[in-house]
Amino acid sequence: LAPSNIRAIAPYQPGKPITELAREMGLKPESIVKLASNENPLGVSPKAYEAMQDALEDIARYPDGNSFALRDCVCRKFKLQPDQLVFGNGSNDILELAARAFLTPGTEAVYAQHAFAVYALVTQATGATGISVPAKDFGHDLDAMLAAVTDKTRIVFIANPNNPTGTLIGKQALRHFLASVPKHALVVLDEAYDEYLAADIKSEALSWLDEFDNLLISRTLSKAYGLAGLRVGFGVTSPAIADLMNRVRQPFNVNSVAQAAAVAALQDDEFVERSYALNQAGMLQITQGLAKLGLGYIPSYGNFVSFHVSNAAEVYQQLLKSGVIVRPVAAYEMPDYLRVSIGLHSENARFLEVLEQILQARS
Ligand code: PMP
Repeated sequence: LAPSNIRAIAPYQPGKPITELAREMGLKPESIVKLASNENPLGVSPKAYEAMQDALEDIARYPDGNSFALRDCVCRKFKLQPDQLVFGNGSNDILELAARAFLTPGTEAVYAQHAFAVYALVTQATGATGISVPAKDFGHDLDAMLAAVTDKTRIVFIANPNNPTGTLIGKQALRHFLASVPKHALVVLDEAYDEYLAADIKSEALSWLDEFDNLLISRTLSKAYGLAGLRVGFGVTSPAIADLMNRVRQPFNVNSVAQAAAVAALQDDEFVERSYALNQAGMLQITQGLAKLGLGYIPSYGNFVSFHVSNAAEVYQQLLKSGVIVRPVAAYEMPDYLRVSIGLHSENARFLEVLEQILQARS
């Protein structure tokens, strides 16, 4: 019954849940190390946890459909106006709202090879045509992407940093690109991992919104803010684009517990700083460990790193058997790579230890 564009969609493959692996392998859930979904290994900010518990008192009521308190908090923190914002059930929701507002059959969306999978998914769901532009050194080839923009292009998706490659586009190159994209195309700039960037390379794109009224910046509370399970993200754009996206948004897409937790999490700078510092140290631990094992990796600006290993699918299964969940990235045209998220020091050590055993058993 479904149209061909829907039947052609390759389902998104999430990281294997801990409970599922525990059941399959007869392992204790607490013995499993999950480094598969770029989550925050520190868990949740205690302040957000408290706010969540308070919000539970009111769950018989509908949430605030306009996320007033959260909107106010985001406006203050990032110096924005309320009408520039759209809130989503995770930032995936923001990506989908953009697709639903701007794509129709006959139009095109441009994204990079190895870019975050959801861009292709939301594009295909609208019946529009997805144009995947070959990557350069695993990163976005902005010149080629610009050349791929046609009269039919309505969205250009850019992930900065990108997942699963971890590559980052420099500020100047990005700004030049934004200035070159024709105004009939919306640039969706996905900054899910911005909090993991060092101060000198952090995005400045929020301050460019006055200049580019075809720019939508997407942010999430799933990563450094530690709220992946609650599903909160937001888009920042021109009031005209925010208005269009809000028209296709479900009225209560962000639940009340998530809104309350997000306000508290956004105010807990200390937690985000700790998350950043842990990630810096863990990235060094894992990349040094991979190098010691003789494995190449793609230098990453996120809270994960993709490394090269022959027979990656088999290594993934062997890691699973030992209770370590990482992420295969074959669906991203990277069949010889696995992606590992940066965890706690002990989790990273366990991953490296099990990986070493697997590689030793091979030789
Ligand atoms: N964008 C990128 C680049 C991501 O890696 C992710 C999470 N995997 C998301 C968006 C979506 O995250 P969420 O829906 O949890 O905000």
